[in-house]
Amino acid sequence: MQTLLLWLFYISSFYAFIPGLITRIFGFRVFRRGSGEHEYALTFDDGPDAQYTPQLLDLLKRYNAKATFFVVGSHAEQNPELVKRMHDEGHLIGIHNYVHKSNWLMRPATVSKQIMKTDKIIHSITGERTSYYRPPWGIVNLFDLKKRGGKFKIVLWSAMFGDWRERIGADRLTERILNKLQPGEVLLLHDCGTTAGANPDAPQQMLIALERVLEEAERRGLKSIRIDEMIKAKENAPEKKLSHSKLAVVKLWLIWETIFHKLFRLKTVNPLDPLLHYRLRKYSGDTIELEDGTKLQKGDKVVELHFDNEKLFRFGIRSRSSVHLAIQMIRSMEKELPTLAHQLMEDPAASTSKALYGVTMVNRGPQQFGFQIVELKDGLFSRSTRLYLKFLLSVIHPSGQSRLKEHAQLLVPKMLLMPIADFFERYAENGSHRHHLEAKRSRRDSLETAEGNELSLSAASQGLESSTPAI
Ligand SMILES: [Zn+2]
Repeated sequence: MQTLLLWLFYISSFYAFIPGLITRIFGFRVFRRGSGEHEYALTFDDGPDAQYTPQLLDLLKRYNAKATFFVVGSHAEQNPELVKRMHDEGHLIGIHNYVHKSNWLMRPATVSKQIMKTDKIIHSITGERTSYYRPPWGIVNLFDLKKRGGKFKIVLWSAMFGDWRERIGADRLTERILNKLQPGEVLLLHDCGTTAGANPDAPQQMLIALERVLEEAERRGLKSIRIDEMIKAKENAPEKKLSHSKLAVVKLWLIWETIFHKLFRLKTVNPLDPLLHYRLRKYSGDTIELEDGTKLQKGDKVVELHFDNEKLFRFGIRSRSSVHLAIQMIRSMEKELPTLAHQLMEDPAASTSKALYGVTMVNRGPQQFGFQIVELKDGLFSRSTRLYLKFLLSVIHPSGQSRLKEHAQLLVPKMLLMPIADFFERYAENGSHRHHLEAKRSRRDSLETAEGNELSLSAASQGLESSTPAI
């Protein structure tokens, strides 16, 4: 008996669980997340529901948001007018089986029948066939991957919120969704609470939360789009043009970054759109005289800056040229530094440190922001940093390796420093604006001259882009 149970477990694992895991981890033949800068996707499962779906459609219309509905076939059959309305109002309709039952519990032929039957119902109401499928509870089996990957696109999600339970309440739900409201996210919500495990009136809470989320999305300039549009945009995204091996390297490297951030407890200046991270540490190099005359000595507290490398990677692959990249970086830094100054002022440990510190490739970029550039003493640290920065640059920069060979002599890591008092004066709200304005003007001048001199600016951009984990 035990053996039999064990075998059943193995078979069911093989049939449903393991492919599920594979799709979740590798996104294999399954769409889970898009790209883009201003678009996210609202998706609603289990409906249509006579009570809540009309309210949801009204709400979406009010905010001009487009969504994707994964309908249960039997519910669609009972509420054809709602399916018609979804279609007429520009939403995408996908399939969520004919009855809300897990594919794990059905034979492949039964799953197939469920899907075809639902497709037929949708077609009879809207006149269009659909090719988007979301299995209940996201459970995919091997058969789904093999067969449906071709005809139907399997759509999972990047975030779900437990909105099928009424007791979560609109406030907590709002907070959870806002935490995930970012470009590229595929949000899973439910407009029907009559399926197993859900509460019939849970969608009421969802609708209250959703209204607040739509309001906030509008404020942040984010727009909900249909899944088919998100898939199309992702296929045309610049990331797609990178080779698989390079993408794999980038993925591994971003995982390493995440670990590094956790390990060293890096703080993020603007968590909604990370560009800079920092941590407090003790300075360990030789004594240096800073521009304001103070001395930086071994053991002094410094704020160490790190660029967000995922952001840099995105800048890199999206920019048309080195000049474009540099302009993007400079604009983002102009916005970010005052925020950083404000944050450090409020952090007692940081505001009493001596200087801002980072490691960067040489050049004039950071100087324009008021940083002082200091040579790193040749040694193991300097050499390993150089290797790491070169690697980063080859991954981040549009023309990668070839540029490295051309300008190898420029790529020497140096220290970047600014006395903390200086930094506050330049960038904190209450500080003197004179310096800041002056700095701004000189940066603009250098941008203009650089139009005819790409090399100097790209060198500047390199300096900006390579303040990295120096370990
Ligand atoms: Zn469902």
